[in-house]
Amino acid sequence: MRYIEPHIHMVSRTTDDYQRLAESGVVAMTEPAFWAGFDRCSADGFSDYFRQLTVYEPRRATVFGIAHYCWICLNPKEAEDLALAKDVLSIVPDYLRAPTCLGVGEIGLNKNSRNELQVFEAHVQLAADLNQMILIHTPHLEDKYKGTRLIIDVLQNHSAIDPTRVIIDHVEEHTAPLVLDHGFWAGMTLYPQTKCTPARAVDILETCGTDRIWLNSAADWGVSDPLAVAKFQLEARRRGHADAFVHKIVFENPVRFLGQNPKFQVPA
Ligand SMILES: [Zn+2]
Repeated sequence: MRYIEPHIHMVSRTTDDYQRLAESGVVAMTEPAFWAGFDRCSADGFSDYFRQLTVYEPRRATVFGIAHYCWICLNPKEAEDLALAKDVLSIVPDYLRAPTCLGVGEIGLNKNSRNELQVFEAHVQLAADLNQMILIHTPHLEDKYKGTRLIIDVLQNHSAIDPTRVIIDHVEEHTAPLVLDHGFWAGMTLYPQTKCTPARAVDILETCGTDRIWLNSAADWGVSDPLAVAKFQLEARRRGHADAFVHKIVFENPVRFLGQNPKFQVPA
């Protein structure tokens, strides 16, 4: 089945991964800007990374017949240095104009600190000012519920933010209803260790429904599985779900959300 991988960090993956993703049916992917596994020490480091996301990675994907899009921001893990955050935020608008950039992301919270919240609010303001869509990272494990609540509070207090143009990612059983009930889109991340398994993702879809929700691998430089969305498809079928159910989650829903930005073209 043709499908979309809406959250993956391909700068950390090999060409073999591109090959396997193409063979498993991926026709388009989106790559949010995030933490590189180490803290960058200047805005120039981010500038190079943003060029990689907007110029180099789309070319690399094209070789495998995959359309590559991105999201640009300073990620929450590097938000503690407020002076650096200010410098990076000043260059973000240049990259948002790239023909394959779909919006601001992945912004959000990591440890729910005061500085992270301040930098998150600055990104939300930037997205509002420039009428950008938003992709949001929620914290891991014990920080997730509180962080998700804080994020929703900030978004709801901003009159210019339309929840249907915001996806809140890495939801689990205890945060999916919170996100969906407030009108946002929800993303589920399938991870071998922390986060969701394919079986839990099917459980969540069976209880929360299939509207405004997508699935991704969020594969990056750590232990992760770029083919997690393909494995979800097998699990959903094993549980007796029809092709239409699977297709809605892995193709139609991402197209509906991403297609709100006219830069996103559904691959032929
Ligand atoms: Zn990510």
